[in-house]
Amino acid sequence: MAADQRGLSKGPVVVVGGGPVGMVAAASLARLDVPVVLIEAEDEPKTDWRASTFHAATLELLDELGVADQMHAEGLRVPIYHFRDRREGLVAEFDFTLLADETPFPYRLQLNQQHLVRMLHERLRRTPRVELLFGTRVSDVVNLPGGGAQVVAHTPDGPRELVGSLVIGADGAGSTVRGALGTGFTGFTYPQRFLIASTSVDLAQALPGIAEVNYIADPREWLFLLRTPESWRAVWPVPAEQNEADALHEDTLRRQFQGVAPRPEGYPIIDRQLYRVHQRVADTFRVGDVLLIGDAAHINSPMGGVGLNSGIHDAVDLARRIGRIAAGNADADAELDTFAEHRHRVAVEYVQADTQRNTQRLMEADEARRRAAHDEMRAIAADPDRARAYMRRASLLESVRRFGIGVPPGRSTTASSTAR
Ligand SMILES: Cc1cc2nc3c(=O)[nH]c(=O)nc-3n(C[C@H](O)[C@H](O)[C@H](O)COP(=O)(O)OP(=O)(O)OC[C@H]3O[C@@H](n4cnc5c(N)ncnc54)[C@H](O)[C@@H]3O)c2cc1C
Repeated sequence: MAADQRGLSKGPVVVVGGGPVGMVAAASLARLDVPVVLIEAEDEPKTDWRASTFHAATLELLDELGVADQMHAEGLRVPIYHFRDRREGLVAEFDFTLLADETPFPYRLQLNQQHLVRMLHERLRRTPRVELLFGTRVSDVVNLPGGGAQVVAHTPDGPRELVGSLVIGADGAGSTVRGALGTGFTGFTYPQRFLIASTSVDLAQALPGIAEVNYIADPREWLFLLRTPESWRAVWPVPAEQNEADALHEDTLRRQFQGVAPRPEGYPIIDRQLYRVHQRVADTFRVGDVLLIGDAAHINSPMGGVGLNSGIHDAVDLARRIGRIAAGNADADAELDTFAEHRHRVAVEYVQADTQRNTQRLMEADEARRRAAHDEMRAIAADPDRARAYMRRASLLESVRRFGIGVPPGRSTTASSTAR
């Protein structure tokens, strides 16, 4: 069933989930004068530390939304990152400024995702034709026979049924919307969990020569070290057999940091999280008038910092199409099918492929393959053309230039240059 071909006559667009992707979707729709209801289960926007990287292609989109200046005022610009080996040190250095002729944002902007949520929430609260329903959990979604979809929401005042011309599931990895659609979430879960620990110690002092973002390979205990405005953060694998309490214990975390860089004064730990990491993509991103974006549609390893970024791309792509549908000058079915097809392809061909390879490179235990991967990284970094192609892909500029974001049906998809 298509959304109404003459606009969105069944009601507002209902966005389920007020995480970063749902907030971007709502803000993008509001900017196009599309009425929106955003439903979030929590009473307030979440404040936990999760993704913290915004790449060039995403900053371009957030700049259009008018939030990039504030993000830059609070974030850290990081043009350089290292691929290192835990025993051998620096393997290859990559420099995003190679892309300075292609984007105004040739760097990673390090900023914890909850700050973007806060900035967008503040704006949406003051935006006409946007209704924010916090403390409200969606339990079911069904497509309606005459078009549009109905959401069952549990508000603080009791259950409420809302009809939307379109419903967007931006409700994260465990998506209720995806579950209600009966859509598969195909892929796998890594056997080891990932531990994220943050310290107030400046690791650049403790480990002179490191970059502000470092992927550090090791067959036993790889590491990911990155700086955010609030802290230095380390990510390492926790074997399946280690119990959660032990993995998260203060002594364990301090010992781990001492193993990274001995420091007699010790390591104050300011945040810690243990989580399961998956590589999964929903079988389809569209069922009738219900669409999936962000983690509800695809989840992946954090190695490369592209999961949230591609979720934001989903949100803006879909919003631009809905803007044209609302204006009454687009074929709704063709627009929504193109969204679902393009964004599914990007999730599989870029996000899944690259994060899986990045993760494997870090944990590779086979000595010959480990050496070959290091040689490959050195060769890419040493060749300006290959390095540029690699950075275009890492910054998501390649997928965005190839598929466009919200480009009308039939007007995109050029060949991939595909340097990995
Ligand atoms: C511990 C942890 C660490 C991470 N670290 C990184 C990292 O370092 N790098 C990286 O790239 N990515 C990381 N990620 C992934 C990244 O955080 C996600 O890609 C990102 O949050 C996706 O945004 P989203 O808006 O799609 O989903 P979410 O951020 O999950 O937001 C979904 C929202 O929907 C709400 N919701 C859920 N169900 C319902 C319902 N039924 N009704 C109403 N509301 C609902 C939730 O309360 C939530 O606010 C991490 C994830 C976790 C869990």
